[in-house]
Amino acid sequence: MLLVDPGAYAPGTLDLAGDPELRRYWLDLFRRHTGDLVAHVASEHPGEPAIVEATRRAAAAFLAHLDSVEHDPRARFDTLTLCAERERCLRAARVDDPFARIKARENAAALELLPGVVAAIDSLDPRDRTGTLVRGIFAGNIFDLGSPATAALFAAGKTSFHDVRERLAPRPWRVDDFDVLCERIERGVLRALVFVDNAGSDVVLGIVPFVRELLRAGGDVVLAANATPALNDITHGELGPLLDRAADQDELLAKSLSTRRLRLVSSGGGLPLLDLRKLSVELRREIAERPPDLVVLEGMGRAIESNWDARLRFDTLKIAMLKDASVARRLGGSLWDLVCRFEPGPSPRS
Ligand code: MG
Repeated sequence: MLLVDPGAYAPGTLDLAGDPELRRYWLDLFRRHTGDLVAHVASEHPGEPAIVEATRRAAAAFLAHLDSVEHDPRARFDTLTLCAERERCLRAARVDDPFARIKARENAAALELLPGVVAAIDSLDPRDRTGTLVRGIFAGNIFDLGSPATAALFAAGKTSFHDVRERLAPRPWRVDDFDVLCERIERGVLRALVFVDNAGSDVVLGIVPFVRELLRAGGDVVLAANATPALNDITHGELGPLLDRAADQDELLAKSLSTRRLRLVSSGGGLPLLDLRKLSVELRREIAERPPDLVVLEGMGRAIESNWDARLRFDTLKIAMLKDASVARRLGGSLWDLVCRFEPGPSPRS
């Protein structure tokens, strides 16, 4: 429904079974992350042995799955299927959302910074504003507990939104279509569909100010968040109350929500990656009834790992920070490089 050629679409574009080095890299990474996940739940839930024990059971089941695909020469797998299996193991052990508490804390902290971030953006000229908004999306996207590189920065207290935004790589970025994006935004966006990524600074300080600018220019915006938890991604259920709190301090957001120019629709997803063939019924209906003229895929998992090669029927912005060395290498870049790729949709007559 969003894709130019659904038959050619492959969201797990890395077939890890076919590349021994890449396969070792990702299996190691998933194993290390699983250990970190158990430690995270233990530190978030002191005095609650039942959830820690359940997480250990889920971790053991997932590690067994990693062992089995590693030793089965016929196994075909990629980061998408491994992420799906990890969530399946967690749910089977009745671990609903290991990151719920940290997401709530980071949302609250980011909400406190939001009025200042928005006021500073409002004081800029339009083009500087777009630049600051785009750099805000990059900076907010650093709150990512799925990537060992960013999780380590977070643990060391080095993910402050303003500091990260200051220290971002200068232009030109690894993929830099910023000027085309500015022209596109200046031409006017009627309806944007934004697939959001993480909780905290990512959605509150990166996405909300960007979306607010589209609303201010007269556009409508649909925010599509995951239906079910995956790592520290914001879920559809969390996004509603979070935006209500943001709207308490922001008239434009409040008005946009009440007039439904800003709408929240579950994406149907439950992974840190995005399979565009598996959108929710509500989102498919929304797209059919009110086709977007700009689709935003935000974050490394959605924009790059699963949809880098996907051609959409609409103008598309793929925007992310490269938070994994192997994904960065795939784009000829290195860790912390920035990607702002704008792809025009096929013209109506083509
Ligand atoms: Mg994420």
